[in-house]
Formats: sequence, C-alpha cells, structure tokens
Amino acid sequence: MLAKQIADQFTTTTSSLLPFIDALPDSAIIVDGDHRIVLVNSRAGEMFGYSAENLKDSDLSIIIPKLHRNAHRQLVSNFFQSPMPRPMDVNKRFCGMRADGTEVPVDIMINTIILDGIRVAMALVRDVSYQRELEERLIRESLTDGMTGFFNRKHFINQLKAQHSGFTRSGVPSSVILFDFDHFKSINDQHGHAAGDIVLIDTAKMIKEKLRPLDIACRIGGEEFAVILPDTPIQNAKHLAERIRREIEAIEFRLEDTVFHATVTMSVASFFPSDKSYDSLVRRADKALYAGKAAGRNCVASQDSLAQPSE
Ligand code: GH3
Ligand code: MG
Ligand code: MG
Repeated sequence: MLAKQIADQFTTTTSSLLPFIDALPDSAIIVDGDHRIVLVNSRAGEMFGYSAENLKDSDLSIIIPKLHRNAHRQLVSNFFQSPMPRPMDVNKRFCGMRADGTEVPVDIMINTIILDGIRVAMALVRDVSYQRELEERLIRESLTDGMTGFFNRKHFINQLKAQHSGFTRSGVPSSVILFDFDHFKSINDQHGHAAGDIVLIDTAKMIKEKLRPLDIACRIGGEEFAVILPDTPIQNAKHLAERIRREIEAIEFRLEDTVFHATVTMSVASFFPSDKSYDSLVRRADKALYAGKAAGRNCVASQDSLAQPSE
C-alpha cells in the first residue's frame, strides 16, 4: 500500500523526465520489470562508455560485471516486489562494468516511478572510485607500520586469530617467528637513533625477500617483529628463523662512514590442539624469546625447548 502511494507520487512521462534526469550530476538509469533499460541520462553513457542511445533498450546486464549478473537480476526482481526508495543494498559494494570491460565502483539509490503508465525502477548511480580508494588506503595505513612497510601489531593479532580458527577447523598448523633485537639500546647509544632506524628498515627489506607471498611480516613493537607462517610445521619455521638470524648477523649496516652490526634473539611456536585461543601461542613464543635472551641472545629458541611446552 505504502509502496503504491510512493510510486503514484512519481507518475510522469518519458519526455517530461528526460530534461530533469539529464541535469543530474549522477547517472540515472531507468529499468522495467524485465530488466530492460528504458531510459538513461547522458551521464550514465559517459560513466559506462556507451552512448545513451546504445544503452536504451539494452538488457541492464550490459553494465553489470559478469560474475554478479544473476544476483543483480534477482535484486532488481526483489525490488519490484517491494519497491521502497532506498540504497540498493547497504551491505554490498557494487561495481558497474564499462564498455571496455573495466569495473567502476558505484553507490546506487533506487526508487520506483510510473513512466508512461508502466511501473519502472529508477537508479541513481554514483561513481565512488575516489571514496573506495581512499577507504582502502586508510584501512591499509591503519594496519601498516610506516617505517618498515610491515603490518602492525593490530593486524598481527587479527591474523593470528584467523589462523587459530583455521587450525581448529583443519588441524593444519601455522607457525610464528618472533624476534627482538639484542641490546638495541646500545646501538642507538653508540651510533645514534638514525642508525637504529636503518637496522630496522634494512632488516625488514631482507626479510621480505625471504618470505612467501602468503607469509605475514609484522612489526609488533619498537624493535620487535613477528612473522606468521600459515600452514607451516614448526620444524620448517625453525629452519627459516635460523636462516634469518644468520643473515641479520652478517649484514653490514651503514650510516654515513660508520659500519655496524646487530643480532636478534628469535623464538618459534605453533598451535597445539589444546590451544583455546591465539594468545596461548603468543605466550609460548614470548616465554621462549625470554629464554633465548637469558641463554645469551643471538639464537633461535623454540616452544619445544621450554620446560612445560603446553604453558
Ligand atoms: P635486549 O637484548 O634485552 O632486548 O636489549 P634492548 O636494548 O634491545 O632492550 P629494550 O627492549 O629494553 O630496548 C629497546 C630499545 O629500542 C629501546 C628503544 O629506544 C629502541 N627503539 C624502539 N623503537 C625504535 C625505533 O623505531 N628506532 C630506534 N632507533 N630505536 C627504537
Ligand atoms: Mg624489545
Ligand atoms: Mg631488544
């Protein structure tokens, strides 16, 4: 009933509507119940790379990415059954498809009108490329450490939670390497804070080259790092940790004319079936790291070598 009232308020004709929709800054696309484009404004033609005449009378699928065509047809059909003015679907991020096959991120507002006696849907489509890129950049920046380009602690925790859920479902273990620079304060004290920064940046560069694309390298504190190795048994993680430890030890860090060295203490841990949460692993890795520091530093310690591995 309400839907009918709304629709009736917008009874109009194609010829009277065209000047109005052509003046809109957004694309306007009018579609009938058969998914056919009845009318578009010139902005829609520009947005999708067609002339407005080419779009008119085409199936709406012409501007929908192939993967989403069936679902979109269903959404349009649902809308005709319950035609309230609203955003097309607040939980979905829509893309349109241009004539050249590229996609354009869009927001869509839909309403219904009676056009030349037939109920049709009118979509106002806005290109939100800039907003989506900005949003993605802000999300990326909120999860990344600016100095090294590694992920930050927040992302480390999120990913570890996800790995723990995956492990409880699949039983395939993931491993984690933690490491902390040895006597980092004295590097800063002897060579200056800029020298300490160089150690962090160059180490991160070297590590990036050693990892697989699916591995997740994080800077979780000032001079503390973590690498999540999905689907990796602890034995493989230990070998990788040992390789990284040796490489760091061998790097000749340089600041102007000064050459200096640094070492790290590392620990390795992986999930146990008894782990109720990701932080059991973190606690074991932390304990092993402290054990490595106590044992003289510049080494790889493992949860296996702790007195009580299960906590
Ligand atoms: P240990 O072997 O016990 O880990 O000794 P440490 O000196 O490394 O111990 P601690 O964790 O107490 O000191 C870490 C130092 O790292 C303190 C801090 O000033 C320095 N640091 C943290 N973040 C940065 C950074 O971004 N750049 C530089 N240059 N130094 C940093
Ligand atoms: Mg530290
Ligand atoms: Mg340290």
